[in-house]
Amino acid sequence: MTDRRSARAARVVEALTENHLDALLVTGRANIRYLTGFSGSSALLLVTARDSVLITDFRYQTQVSDEVGDLVRIRVEATSLWDGLWAELGHFHGRAVIGFGSAHVTHREFQRFLDDAAGARWQWRPQGDIVEALRESKDVDEVALIRHAAGMATRALSNTLQQVRSGLTELEVAGILEKALRDEGSEAHPFETIVASGPRSALPHARASGRAIERNDLLLLDFGAEHGGYCSDVTRTVVVGHASDDVRAVYDIVRVANERASSAVRAGMTGASADAIARDYISAAGYGEDFGHSLGHGIGLEVHEAPRLARTAAAKLLADTVVTIEPGIYRPEWGGVRIEDDVYLSADGPRILTDFTHELLELSA
Ligand code: ZN
Ligand code: ZN
Repeated sequence: MTDRRSARAARVVEALTENHLDALLVTGRANIRYLTGFSGSSALLLVTARDSVLITDFRYQTQVSDEVGDLVRIRVEATSLWDGLWAELGHFHGRAVIGFGSAHVTHREFQRFLDDAAGARWQWRPQGDIVEALRESKDVDEVALIRHAAGMATRALSNTLQQVRSGLTELEVAGILEKALRDEGSEAHPFETIVASGPRSALPHARASGRAIERNDLLLLDFGAEHGGYCSDVTRTVVVGHASDDVRAVYDIVRVANERASSAVRAGMTGASADAIARDYISAAGYGEDFGHSLGHGIGLEVHEAPRLARTAAAKLLADTVVTIEPGIYRPEWGGVRIEDDVYLSADGPRILTDFTHELLELSA
């Protein structure tokens, strides 16, 4: 682990030179965890060619030394992390250029760079996604963590579906599922669990509600597990009772769209061409208008990260990324079907990490 983190830091130092920076201030939590292993919520990481320093507060004194060891210098601040930062920057001359991840600095923090007597001494330059770009390709340890999180999610789903009956509310099902995820050892819910039944399954990002599941309802569950900081993200749609021919027909289109995309997606193709594999199939079946979101997204330390698999995604997919494949069809009033898997784009082709049937399950109501 230590070696991988050092190699990552070395690549950030190369990026300093490429971007004509004297230092990079990293404030995004996932980026800090990626570079140092620190999982706390309050930290600033300053990377320079000479060394790196992680500034955190008193609450994390023990945790930071456990997680980071002597990989980088650690500074525990009693008052404000920013005071620690100004002190660390003290040895830089006034014209020094400090980069910062523009996606992670609030406007208030940026004002502080410009206004604080200390912060105003240096030149601040917003940077795009230097660390995020490094995170896009996963190493074998990261893929193993995501695979483990995917296994937790699919086992929790099997366990949950055995308990689902009509009459339970969506919130009750979410509770059963989240308990099952915790029982599997999931460290957190990477995003708010979606449980949507009947007509509510037509809302792609429905929150679980107090609606009671009715006999023969569609039931859509979208959820994830977290292991070692890495996320999984799974969706399955089932019927609580018997599926009508109409439901079966729509389900089959989504299932085939998922399977075509999951087996054909490759590193080297653009995110747009990956998206088109599923979208063209759904459109040819007459449901193009009802697939209103993109095909998928990268997953890792965050549940939504680079790359994007979408109509507008011109960037090529890199080898060793892990992405979701999640086509869906949503018909207002009627309901929706989505089937989402996590897929590792290995050099030898796609590997599905979420091992769970694509057959339409009809639960006993
Ligand atoms: Zn999802
Ligand atoms: Zn997703």
